[in-house]
Amino acid sequence: MKFNTKLLHGYSGKKDCYGATQVPIYQNSSFSYDMAEDLEKVFEGKSFGYLYSRISNPTVQDIEIRLASLENGIGAIFCSSGMAAVSMALMNILQSGDHLICGSGLFGGTYSLLQDLEAFGITTSYLQKGTEEEFLSLVTDRTRAVFIETIENPKLKVYDIQLMAKWVHKQGIPLIVDNTLISPYLFCPIEEGADIVVHSTTKHLNGSGTAIGGVVIDSGNFTWDEKCYPWVKYFGKFGKFSYLAKLRKGLFKDIGVCNAPMNAYLTSVGIETLGLRMERECENALALARFLDENDAVYDVNYPGLLNNSFYEVAKKQFGGKFGTMLTFRVGSKEKAFRIINRLKLVFNQANLGDVRTLIIHPESTIYQDCTEEEKRRMGVYEDLIRVSVGIEDFEDIVLDFSQALA
Ligand SMILES: *Cc1c(COP(=O)(O)O)cnc(C)c1O
Repeated sequence: MKFNTKLLHGYSGKKDCYGATQVPIYQNSSFSYDMAEDLEKVFEGKSFGYLYSRISNPTVQDIEIRLASLENGIGAIFCSSGMAAVSMALMNILQSGDHLICGSGLFGGTYSLLQDLEAFGITTSYLQKGTEEEFLSLVTDRTRAVFIETIENPKLKVYDIQLMAKWVHKQGIPLIVDNTLISPYLFCPIEEGADIVVHSTTKHLNGSGTAIGGVVIDSGNFTWDEKCYPWVKYFGKFGKFSYLAKLRKGLFKDIGVCNAPMNAYLTSVGIETLGLRMERECENALALARFLDENDAVYDVNYPGLLNNSFYEVAKKQFGGKFGTMLTFRVGSKEKAFRIINRLKLVFNQANLGDVRTLIIHPESTIYQDCTEEEKRRMGVYEDLIRVSVGIEDFEDIVLDFSQALA
């Protein structure tokens, strides 16, 4: 099936007994069995069944199967939020004393998580330039994973995933990619060599801002070496499913970061229009970037789809001629930035992205409020920087709103 067909028809394939085409919402905390023997078998893993919704649930499983299929993974675990997914993806394979290498322009919550992990003996080094030479200089004998975002925000730095995967695999470690900003419609990191993909499903996959959620998807391709990843002793029997089995039986269940069946359902409905929304949003984003680039009130319009952007070539190659839905620009001062945001009538001033509505935010005073000046500079956050996540409105209305606000 092609992508848009798969969005509608590519899920678990179980036919509902009443002919419902949307997955039913199984709003149950647990599931009963007639015979004690049956429940014993399910607990032992000898027969398949649902036990308790902290571990698995039919509605949640449906979105897991659909998301794994969209990203070309062998399985997925749907989590309570994107941050839960990022935490689980990393903590599942790390132990005290281990080291990570990450991009320097990460999502604010992920950066904050990496600082939290220091209390558990896990340290992180950040790529500034992103060259192989720099990468190799950061690798230690305790480096256990590399974590990057397909497009870092608000820097909008685009990584060449195929290249990164090559460097990372030579060191015997996995590449974990946060693909939230681009979505599997534009790009599947697993096809280019990424081992694990995470998403905040809150963003593009949901699309309408109706539910917080996240997902961890495994390619099943990485060979976990027992010397570096000692848990393989216990989970190796699951073969290529060892990473997912460890997560579901371990931290996912034990920390309890399951998501609600209702949120799984809302995400399922959301992803059906992912292709249509991304087409339209990318088109609008490119047009808005070009409009802003011509406007004298703004400078440093940052969008990978502009010909003068340093990531134009890699974005074009990787995302098939589309460039995502986010752009940033600068206006000279925080005061001006606030004035522009306050004058917009249609565009919402809101801390979200990948929504059907065009959203705007002043990152420095909001998401990055707690960062030091040095951290902000490293992450490309300036006091006059404005970030826009472009929606599906008619472009004429978007451009009219920006014109009057900038005037
Ligand atoms: C929003 C976001 C997250 C966190 O997701 P939540 O659902 O808000 O917890 C992680 N990574 C990226 C790139 C994001 O944009």
